[in-house]
Amino acid sequence: MNRPIIYGNRATGLPENADDVRKGKAGHGVSILEIGMTDGGWRPVVDSPFNRRITADTPVEITGPARGHDLLKTVADPEGTGALGTWNNCGNGRTPWGTYLACEENFNGYFSSSDPDYAVPDAMKRYGVGLKDWGYAWATADERFDISKHPNEPNRAGFVVEIDPLDPKSVPKKRTALGRFKHENAEVVVAGNGHVVVYMGDDERGEFIYRFVSEGRYVEGGDNSGLLGTGSLSVARFNDDGSGEWLALTPETTGMASAAEVVVHARIAASAVGATTMDRPEWVAAHPMRAEVYCCLTNNKNRGKKPNAGGDPTPVGGPNPRAGNKYGQIVRWRPAGGDHTAAGFEWDLFVVAGNPAVHDDANAGSANVNPDNMFNSPDGLVFDSKGGLWIQTDGKYTNEGDFAGQGNNQMLYADADTGEMNRFLVGPKECEVTGLCWSQDRKTMFVGLQHPGEKGGSHFPGGGDTAPRSTVIAVTRDDGGEIG
Ligand code: CA
Ligand code: CA
Ligand code: CA
Repeated sequence: MNRPIIYGNRATGLPENADDVRKGKAGHGVSILEIGMTDGGWRPVVDSPFNRRITADTPVEITGPARGHDLLKTVADPEGTGALGTWNNCGNGRTPWGTYLACEENFNGYFSSSDPDYAVPDAMKRYGVGLKDWGYAWATADERFDISKHPNEPNRAGFVVEIDPLDPKSVPKKRTALGRFKHENAEVVVAGNGHVVVYMGDDERGEFIYRFVSEGRYVEGGDNSGLLGTGSLSVARFNDDGSGEWLALTPETTGMASAAEVVVHARIAASAVGATTMDRPEWVAAHPMRAEVYCCLTNNKNRGKKPNAGGDPTPVGGPNPRAGNKYGQIVRWRPAGGDHTAAGFEWDLFVVAGNPAVHDDANAGSANVNPDNMFNSPDGLVFDSKGGLWIQTDGKYTNEGDFAGQGNNQMLYADADTGEMNRFLVGPKECEVTGLCWSQDRKTMFVGLQHPGEKGGSHFPGGGDTAPRSTVIAVTRDDGGEIG
């Protein structure tokens, strides 16, 4: 949420009373809206029965191993089975059975303490929950965001939330089995043996990449609604020799008391088993035709300089090869035997981003980076149906110094076979290019342009003196053909 814009009526650009906070909470969450093709292009279907808003106050159900556990119980919900709302949703996921996966990312920035002397527990610190929020002031109008009064409330956020967009009365489900961390996206694959595999990055410096494997198996046309409720969670270790393995997160491997504790404190569990600290894992994308998975590691100024919030070292090497990594890279792995549920994998780096016009060392980037396609901070990552890889960036757009020639944030098209990459579009000033999907006939590609003009330097898309707005654009071919 761009506070100076939504609170543009306040000189401070911040919420100043309870009404302002309610506006902010209503401005968070997920919109479900139907769009349709008209003579004037794609337009919202304003009276669609599917249209609805899920905000920071919408009732949601807690499912999975943490449901009903003491860590999830609050004054308002003594059973620990139902929470209110979802917020700071980042990337997303889509299941083969037609549900949408909303991913709770920086949920921590909304909590604060009315007691300045409240001793913040280590488990909260690991997730960045502290005495002060990030300027949202939610606790001033809704006491559940006051950690000194409701210390379990933060345990109810940081999950993947499954939403059925085609059933407007359905209650969103928090899937605790997929772990609690700062979820970027959730890439869903049905393994050859029918188990549903979800790959997930935790977007924080020195945090981890996770994998969920469902206990049940996917049945086409069957009832798959409970598949994300039960399964096993593991975390990736990347060895320097190009091998890797998924380390199971269980009470036995972590020393934790219960499966509920493991998923709620997933970061702490992953530290306990010795997972590899990564350079901020953003989107994960699985190749549609072969068992191969890619993940953007966007950047990490702390690499080789500072441990993560759990004290785990962040050595330079393996899939995180540069100290103070300012450009980012994309790692990929191939599951052993082509089986997404296998414990082992082999990995390599698909691209190491850099600036070959400025540097002649490792910061120039890998061989597939050149002055015409260079970028920093890969973030969004999506395969199209033909195996083309689309890379979106959320990085420095100063176009100066180490970033000279890289311009605004952009979207590239990459050939996963050859590593060749080409710039496809460049976003407006001060935006992040993020989110990508297609119309069913593959003739329209929808691209998200988030927070253009976040520093006041753009009026996209309205122009003139209008406030800039986050936007979804539709891209079509002049010849009307398929686009990915
Ligand atoms: Ca992110
Ligand atoms: Ca992102
Ligand atoms: Ca990002």
